[in-house]
Amino acid sequence: MPMDPTTAFVIATLMMLANGGVLGLVHRDLHAALQPAAASWRIATLLIAGGCVLFSVQQHLPQPFVLPLANGMTTLGFCGYWRALRQFYGYPDIPWLLLPPVAVAAGLYWFTAVQADFIARVLLVSAAWAVIMLGCMLTLRAPAHGDTAVSRPVMAGIILIVMAFIILRAGYFLSVGGGPHASVLNAGNWMNAVTPMIAAVLPVIGTTAFLLMCSERIRRQWERAASTDYLTGLANRRTLAGIGESRFAAAREAGDGLAVAVVDIDHFKSINDRYGHEVGDSALKHVAARLQAACRGKELPARQGGEEFVVLFERVGLAQALAAGERLRRAVESEPFATEGQLLRLTVSIGVAALDPRDGSFDDMLRRADDALYAAKAGGRNRVEASGDGPD
Ligand code: GH3
Ligand code: MG
Ligand code: MG
Repeated sequence: MPMDPTTAFVIATLMMLANGGVLGLVHRDLHAALQPAAASWRIATLLIAGGCVLFSVQQHLPQPFVLPLANGMTTLGFCGYWRALRQFYGYPDIPWLLLPPVAVAAGLYWFTAVQADFIARVLLVSAAWAVIMLGCMLTLRAPAHGDTAVSRPVMAGIILIVMAFIILRAGYFLSVGGGPHASVLNAGNWMNAVTPMIAAVLPVIGTTAFLLMCSERIRRQWERAASTDYLTGLANRRTLAGIGESRFAAAREAGDGLAVAVVDIDHFKSINDRYGHEVGDSALKHVAARLQAACRGKELPARQGGEEFVVLFERVGLAQALAAGERLRRAVESEPFATEGQLLRLTVSIGVAALDPRDGSFDDMLRRADDALYAAKAGGRNRVEASGDGPD
């Protein structure tokens, strides 16, 4: 026997409030950047829960009052979800997001007080909700985020199910017709018993999916923070060591070439001394950007620490690595660093080493490149030297 719609609305409301409460509990632990979206999501859940309470008590209140209010609140809640998704992806607020709830409230008043028409009410609300769900889908599908988070298609799937049900439900009521006393609370109508359950899908399952989106975002940010250098955005020493060791092992295994360049800015201390540490930092960023721009294919630039960078080359011998080092050196020399109205000519010295059978580890190769760097410094700077130990 189907549950009577009033009970279903009450149960759905309790589930929404419980899930909204969970979101409230974790709110403080969310990254500050995610809090506005989470707050919107929570308020939206409360609005929908409030709307469902009104739906369940609608026989006890004047229809022209309760129907516009209940439907307006739920529609505003769905718009709140859309807004939350937009905030999650960093889109600005748009005022016309308030249009659907206002149109629903006004239309519901008209089709209750002025020209009572159950079917018109269902169609109007369904159209508004379907449009909002479509908007949510578009926000989720926008190519701008370019992430591979699994929570995104999960959320899109949930919204698609809700949207499909809204359309199905509108079609159902259109086909069975309204009658003067038709109401979404009429018992014995399976569609009326199912409606609160479906209305609860986004507030309950959707909230879980939203929390998953948040946790996935936070995990990615941590991973990025742990693997990249804060100042320059290049791979950090830890990432370089990891990738270097694995490429070293793979090159050994396959008998491929592998090479590395250690890049050190010339007389960098004098920039700090003359212009201050902040300008020094900007100069570091400038050099990092020049190196990155000069890298091709799988060449990996990293910040080794201080004013020293490392570029990892794949499948190259020493001669090619020397040419690549020369390309990096020129990339820095050719574009002076602009600061405080003047142009500073920055140069780098580079030591290059290619994989040698005597290298026991990536670190051995790096050490030989370092020795070559000292030779480049000793030889007058702004030049590239190769490690003499390696084969050519
Ligand atoms: P050389 O041509 O021999 O490499 O001379 P140099 O001045 O570049 O080398 P030295 O090792 O004497 O000085 C490196 C300077 O880099 C010292 C330090 O203050 C500066 N430095 C290291 N890390 C940072 C950083 O993150 N920001 C800034 N602004 N300076 C840094
Ligand atoms: Mg230096
Ligand atoms: Mg140095």
